[in-house]
Amino acid sequence: MTALPASTLALANRYAREFPELALPWQAAEALDPELLVLNVPLALELGMDPERLRSPEGVRMLIGTAVPAGATPVAQVYAGHQFGGYSPRLGDGRALLLGEIEEDDGRLRDLHLKGSGRTPFARGGDGLAAVGPMLREYIVSEAMHALGVPTTRSLAVVETGRTIRREEPLPGAVLARIASSHLRVGTFQYARSTGDIELLRRLADHAIRRHAPSAAEADRPGLALLEGVIGAQAELVAKWMLVGFVHGVMNTDNMTISGETIDYGPCAFMERLDPATVFSSIDDHGRYAYGNQPAVARWNLTRLAEALLPIVADDQDEAVALVTAALGTFPARYNAAWSSGMREKLGLRPGVDDAASTLATDLLPMLEDSQVDLTSFFRSLSGLIRGRRDAVRDAFVDRDAFDAWTQRWLQLGPDADAMDRVNPTYIPRNHLVEEALAAATEGDLDPFARLLDVVLRPFEERPGLERYAAPSPQRSFRAYRTYCGT
Ligand code: AMP
Ligand code: MG
Repeated sequence: MTALPASTLALANRYAREFPELALPWQAAEALDPELLVLNVPLALELGMDPERLRSPEGVRMLIGTAVPAGATPVAQVYAGHQFGGYSPRLGDGRALLLGEIEEDDGRLRDLHLKGSGRTPFARGGDGLAAVGPMLREYIVSEAMHALGVPTTRSLAVVETGRTIRREEPLPGAVLARIASSHLRVGTFQYARSTGDIELLRRLADHAIRRHAPSAAEADRPGLALLEGVIGAQAELVAKWMLVGFVHGVMNTDNMTISGETIDYGPCAFMERLDPATVFSSIDDHGRYAYGNQPAVARWNLTRLAEALLPIVADDQDEAVALVTAALGTFPARYNAAWSSGMREKLGLRPGVDDAASTLATDLLPMLEDSQVDLTSFFRSLSGLIRGRRDAVRDAFVDRDAFDAWTQRWLQLGPDADAMDRVNPTYIPRNHLVEEALAAATEGDLDPFARLLDVVLRPFEERPGLERYAAPSPQRSFRAYRTYCGT
């Protein structure tokens, strides 16, 4: 491991210094032949990094953690977590490192974190490594989410390490460089609470408040105000997931952030036809993390956060329980408000008619479900109905009379077609396209990945020649969306 000149990138090591109890200094595994597969130039520039330096051999070594920037203290972060409902008291970064924080001009910190950087003492049975396919998946899905306006961690780069890793078959290894407004998770608070060190819990809450909920510092009860802030951020986040049809797949408490950013893109995917039972994770046998369960699971996870925070909410624990219970009770209303206003926008309706929009949307969903309509194509094509292209949308429905009746109610509210096209994407990273791009990348051909990335980074801008990227997977939607077949 070598130290880099400060000019390459200076990183702070606040978390490492402030939380030695929660951060274990560690170093990344060597890689003999690292090769940069993708670099997020706009993000690098936003962070004040020079893309050319990041592309240089020393820059690439920094992106996998084998060269450490001045001031940085790479650490593995420790956290606990409920995984599929079962509690693991000590998880932590088994294959990841927090390299350090980037200090932005306004004083805000952003984490530079590496995933796939080798075994740490938290690796348990794992090899500490990651494969090119899944790291490129996180890159493309997280950047697509950002382009769609969904809060998320960002992806700065994926570097192929030159090492072959063993899964069911040998695969090329890779490291993802991830940017996040922090890596504090519900599980971080669960771990801090489990140490019994209330001062640590309080310091952690103060750190989270500084980074994510500064106004909570002024509140009478900062711990409660932090909880309320996270409840609001997560209610809005999950509403956004639901509106774009995103299924996270592993909403364990260690995969739920305090910032309200989506984190850890594993078996995630975008649903095509609306079905609340949609699950993409092969290990989620009971559908715990199915599309339709996500709001309920978010609330369950927030309850775990509330339990962890109890000692710092109020000295009297009965009072603390009453306070957090009331806060958790606001989740459904906050979620519904976020969902209704998002639906109102998708339906092209002006502010102030959220209730009418919510009723319209609630009546629409069973029709979409019964007719197995592709969610993304439906909302995008709905503006066409205002512009006189009725049949393209209507023909997708089994019960066209019911859809006509719905349409009349909707049109009476005066929807704005252009506004709809600004919020209803044409392009999402559809699973079959992502799979195709990752399979090619694993074989060494990055062109399909680069093309798909270009498409999903401009989701609202319909472009000629890209029809294939807008269409649902051919196997499933043929019947449901027949008017689009052959066009
Ligand atoms: P995840 O469900 O991907 O968020 O991971 C859950 C936990 O397993 C985290 O503590 C990870 O660091 C750890 N983990 C996942 N994959 C590996 C691996 N290949 N080697 C070591 N630890 C891993
Ligand atoms: Mg995780």
